Amino acid sequence: MKRTIAIAALLAAVTVVTSVHSASARTRTDVSAKRHQSIVDANGNRGLVISHKTGAKAYVSPQYASRFQSYINDLEDHGAQVFFMGGYRPGRCSSSSLHPCGKALDVCQLRRGRVDSRCHLPDRRSLAVIAEAHGLFEGGKWCNSDYGHAQIGTTAEACGNKHNLYAAVAEFKQHLGLDLGAEQ
Ligand SMILES: [Zn+2]
Repeated sequence: MKRTIAIAALLAAVTVVTSVHSASARTRTDVSAKRHQSIVDANGNRGLVISHKTGAKAYVSPQYASRFQSYINDLEDHGAQVFFMGGYRPGRCSSSSLHPCGKALDVCQLRRGRVDSRCHLPDRRSLAVIAEAHGLFEGGKWCNSDYGHAQIGTTAEACGNKHNLYAAVAEFKQHLGLDLGAEQ
């Protein structure tokens, strides 16, 4: 019985630590997002991203334009044809949308998670790998997939990372010599 209580207390502690950690991560994201809200840089340049195949344009923060541009170039080198993109969007920059601060770019997206097949984008997994090579996070990695949306930084864990947390808790319990199987 004592052991059951100890395990319950441990799990509760892990849950509290985890939620406190993610709350502080969110705060950090909001603060850094606010810092980069300018649409033009010191020289008055806007952050243009352009498809060299179709001429489709979008604007992002000038600070990150080269990163998004190299991503688009790479996608087109992989056989994609980017017919349309969506960068800046009015509103308040927050961890739920980085578009208002120019830190996100939608590529051929018809709606959340759905892209225009004419653009021939790489599949979800490949797109995420290419995005990562340019220092971007691809929305197709989320459980609620936003395939086609690439952004600066991670505002929510990739799908599957929660399972890694359970694995970490199990490992930790094993380390302490707590064996749930022995309770039965
Ligand atoms: Zn988006």
